[in-house]
Amino acid sequence: MPGAAISSIDMIRRLVGFDTTSRESNLVLIDFVRDYLEGWGVDSELVFDAEHRKANLYATIGPDDRGGVMLSGHTDVVPVDGQAWDSDPFAIAEKSDALYGRGTADMKSFIAVALSLVPEFTARQLETPVHFAFSYDEEVGCIGVRGLIAKLRERPVRPTACIVGEPTLMQPVIAHKGKISLRCHVRGLESHSALAHEGVNAVEAAAEIVAYLKSMARRKRDGGPFDAGFSPPYTTVHTGTIAGGTALNIVPRDCRFDFEFRNIPGDDPAPLLGEVRRYAETRLLPEMRQVSAATGITFEEMNAVDAFDMSPDHELVQMAQALSGANSVGKVSFCAEAGLFQEAAIPTVICGPGSIEVAHKPNEHVAIDQVRQCETFLRRLMDRLAR
Ligand SMILES: [Zn+2]
Repeated sequence: MPGAAISSIDMIRRLVGFDTTSRESNLVLIDFVRDYLEGWGVDSELVFDAEHRKANLYATIGPDDRGGVMLSGHTDVVPVDGQAWDSDPFAIAEKSDALYGRGTADMKSFIAVALSLVPEFTARQLETPVHFAFSYDEEVGCIGVRGLIAKLRERPVRPTACIVGEPTLMQPVIAHKGKISLRCHVRGLESHSALAHEGVNAVEAAAEIVAYLKSMARRKRDGGPFDAGFSPPYTTVHTGTIAGGTALNIVPRDCRFDFEFRNIPGDDPAPLLGEVRRYAETRLLPEMRQVSAATGITFEEMNAVDAFDMSPDHELVQMAQALSGANSVGKVSFCAEAGLFQEAAIPTVICGPGSIEVAHKPNEHVAIDQVRQCETFLRRLMDRLAR
């Protein structure tokens, strides 16, 4: 009994209707996709998180004894909290040939177009399989897909290529920056601020480290290394949040701040982190320890995603260009799952409908023309897999 066909536009409507903000469960969406695929005779494998609250979905259409092309997308979206939307972010509003809603660009439209083509994929005798890999918790550090990749590593055959449908206006993207995010905790010593010499000021020590990070950022900006394909074309260093102290008349005991390196491919962030640690340990800590041995500075890695970098000559890149009709390839500064797939030895390109410029913002949207271009792209892929 075949399932019901759902057009790409209607599928986008369905998927956007599920509030899959990263802090929520994505299982309603995953169950819907699993049932839909089942209706077309396609089995799904779910890879859950530890709490069984979220899942990745993996499915294959075509022979399962050989590699194939994996279509990858994340099902979670960023929050709409505090954003001024002109329409309900979780219901599609259609105006001026575009669809408005959270996730229309980043990145439910790609998943929806792939799903809407399931009846066509299953009707063709695919010689090379197509795989769907739909993940959770991408927006909070590419967390979910790591479980799925671990499962793929166990398989005798893995996908031989991956297309990540992040919004690139359907232009193949062959590189993204890497990212490592860290939390620094400075533990000082409280005292009355009138007796500042008896305390260790955690806010001031943190500020010195932040200022040092800023000097590193300037050095990268001015001295590179550079890769002109990226904007900006160098590794960035950035402090995002800081919190410390309790009252002006107390020497603050604690200060925490979060910072990150976003590195261009080939510019390893590990030595940068080593440099910050060294600065803290040799320039700040001895003075702090003179006052109290209980003081300290710790760095905790919160998240890391490898840089992603494919050769423009790779056959997958050539194929993606042919499928999209693009005569050039791009590089992007935002992080995606592509770096993790590449690290797992799966050649990857990023190509999907919509623009990253509207992602994460109020009134996120995708042009219907982009949806049509994505359909064309995937139908051309289908032709190649059926050959
Ligand atoms: Zn995304």
